[in-house]
Amino acid sequence: MNADLERLIRLQRLDGEIARKSALLETELPREIEKLRAAFQSAADALKNHDTQMTSLAKRRRELEMEADAAREGIKKSKQKLNEVKTNVEYRAILKESETQETRIRELEDQQLEVMEAAETRATDRAALDKASKEEEARYQKEKVEREKAMAQLKEALDALKKDRATVTVEVSPGVLAIYEKVSRQRNGVGITPVADRSCAACHQLIPPQLYYQIRTTEEIHQSPDAAGQGTL
Ligand SMILES: [Zn+2]
Repeated sequence: MNADLERLIRLQRLDGEIARKSALLETELPREIEKLRAAFQSAADALKNHDTQMTSLAKRRRELEMEADAAREGIKKSKQKLNEVKTNVEYRAILKESETQETRIRELEDQQLEVMEAAETRATDRAALDKASKEEEARYQKEKVEREKAMAQLKEALDALKKDRATVTVEVSPGVLAIYEKVSRQRNGVGITPVADRSCAACHQLIPPQLYYQIRTTEEIHQSPDAAGQGTL
């Protein structure tokens, strides 16, 4: 076989493997780690959000209790004043004030009940949110370590592949290599490709009969008929 052709085929295999591993190392694995981190973050945020709501419910409950206590105190004072009043008008005014306070106390007690019920309902959610957050964190930490290990291995493999590539490229005729590199850059990493079913396996264009005959009968490297000049063997 044409020596350059044989080396270009090896070079193309190496380039394909380098591209595949580089994509894993630089894009896919970091993206997976980020996705796991985001899932953990979201679970942690849900728990934090829950706790913030619980704190705010507890605060609201204390406010309602304080207001109710103040109203009860007010009623007590009104009752003491009743013993000292001189006129009916004054008496009725104090009674009216006490009634208003009592109505307010009932309202406050209803609100306290609502707040307590809301807190009780949420309290059962917390355990589930806490569990989910811890699980996501453990999953993130574990899988991050695994992926980082895989990335370190990929980096080593890539270094070896690049060394192999350098060894192969010095053996290819400079003119042939230059065309391969140019076509590879223009055609998404494909510098050389076989003929399959009378077509270029990369761009799928049908090879004209005359060219097809040359490809089958000689060991020369030809360029694919597509405009950008796909390399074809
Ligand atoms: Zn082509």
